[in-house]
Amino acid sequence: MNFEKEYDLICVGGGIMSANLALLAKLLDPSLKILILERLDGVALESSAAWNNAGTGHSALCELNYCPEKENGDIAINKAIDICTQFETSKQFWAYLSENGLIKNPKDFVMPVQHHSWVLGKENSDYLEKRFHSFKEHFMFDSIDFTRDIGKMKEWFPLITKDRDEDEIMAASKIDRGTEVNYGILTDNLFKILNDEFDTPVYCNSEVLDIDPDPDIDWTVEVKNTKTGTINNVDAKHVFIGAGGGSLLLLQKVEIEEKEGYGGFPVSGEWLVCKNEGLIKQHEAKVYSKAGIGDPPMSTPHLDTRYIDGKKQLMFGPFAGFSPKFLKEGSNFDLFKSIQFDNISPMLGAFWHNLPLTKYLVEQVLMSKDDRMESLRKFMKYAKDEDWEVVKAGQRVQIIKKDEFEGGKLQFGTEVISSKNGSVTCLLGASPGASTATSIMLNVLEKAFPEILEKQKELLSEIVPFYNKTINEKLFKSQLKRVNNTLGL
Ligand SMILES: Cc1cc2nc3c(=O)[nH]c(=O)nc-3n(C[C@H](O)[C@H](O)[C@H](O)COP(=O)(O)OP(=O)(O)OC[C@H]3O[C@@H](n4cnc5c(N)ncnc54)[C@H](O)[C@@H]3O)c2cc1C
Repeated sequence: MNFEKEYDLICVGGGIMSANLALLAKLLDPSLKILILERLDGVALESSAAWNNAGTGHSALCELNYCPEKENGDIAINKAIDICTQFETSKQFWAYLSENGLIKNPKDFVMPVQHHSWVLGKENSDYLEKRFHSFKEHFMFDSIDFTRDIGKMKEWFPLITKDRDEDEIMAASKIDRGTEVNYGILTDNLFKILNDEFDTPVYCNSEVLDIDPDPDIDWTVEVKNTKTGTINNVDAKHVFIGAGGGSLLLLQKVEIEEKEGYGGFPVSGEWLVCKNEGLIKQHEAKVYSKAGIGDPPMSTPHLDTRYIDGKKQLMFGPFAGFSPKFLKEGSNFDLFKSIQFDNISPMLGAFWHNLPLTKYLVEQVLMSKDDRMESLRKFMKYAKDEDWEVVKAGQRVQIIKKDEFEGGKLQFGTEVISSKNGSVTCLLGASPGASTATSIMLNVLEKAFPEILEKQKELLSEIVPFYNKTINEKLFKSQLKRVNNTLGL
């Protein structure tokens, strides 16, 4: 492969994170020399692929784990505000690309699909009503609707209410501006812009083996051509490790003290995918419920309308499970290889304090299709085995890090690890992931290229008007209207 000798930035991984970072960087400074390396045959084949994730535009409209109940019974919505702001920032970036003719048809990857929360039982229904009142008071969520009436729910999601007794206790909420996103197509679009407009292609079949300090420039990246076995060494001033589940193993090879103590816990996933066209037609929503007590947030089941492979789909899940691989196309030794002297104590601490999670994952792995169908029947009472098939989802690696009190803890979000001078940055963790990629990558740019952000303040606020702003109702609603118009939402 014809690499140049030296780059300003090397992005490891051809997923949505590298795509966002490289394109933002090029828009702000077209003179930057950027190299993007991907080990597989094409881009967006791991977590960013449509079948591998749930395609939710996570904006806290329906996901109840972002709104915990406090000890005094109030509902905390600060996390929801944060997630909503980050998703709107991603939408602003897509709108900017559309307005400038770089994305031709946003409907190819983002579609309006109502977001609902739906719960069973009195206690959960009371919680949902309290959340509704808290949401109603905040301008980001004041379009929320709530009901305890099954008749109303029949209009919202008939598959779930069919064959239910009128006296069953349940409640639901609805926000119309929810989205379904095909992150695979979006990632393809972003890399196409990089290739066509900025002469920055992705080099596929290029696996990064190591990242070493270099006395002349900052880093030397060792790249293997997976087709021919040839090894190349390429120099870079900055390296971003956006290798998804593979990031931890690469970070561990980089000689920076900030990597110390990080470990990872892999979680695999599976969907039930509907094969019955009649059922698929009847559902037009993403319906999230509540995770069981003690179950992790990624276990929250949902019944989702999706748009994949040019077709409307209906999916239930994801069911979590355990696999020692860090990537779907990874190795069974990944988890074992990641255990090192500096993270053994955090890993044991996290394991010891999360025994219910381990038990939950073991139970999930042992689930047969019949068991999964039983979970689905909590949503759709009459779901028939022959209408559904099991399909593999993507692999996530949850972060394990040092904790003062427990030795180690499991973290469910994402985290950017950076060397002191920002010349190496790495993204660990999974959720809410793809939805918030633009904000996360702006955070990477702050660490790696603060001088570019400082110089391009004006352009940046054109690309993402929420960046570094206090968001009041007027700003939020005016931008929401503009962006939704542009994206056809
Ligand atoms: C089951 C599931 C459901 C999800 N649901 C949602 C959702 O509804 N909404 C949402 O916003 N997010 C969701 N996510 C999270 C989201 O999919 C991820 O956060 C996002 O896709 C991560 O993008 P990435 O670019 O970091 O990683 P990836 O898309 O995994 O890309 C990383 C790339 O790096 C490559 N790579 C790895 N190692 C190397 C190496 N050594 N050299 C070169 N290349 C390498 C890999 O082949 C891969 O192509 C979900 C994830 C899963 C697994």
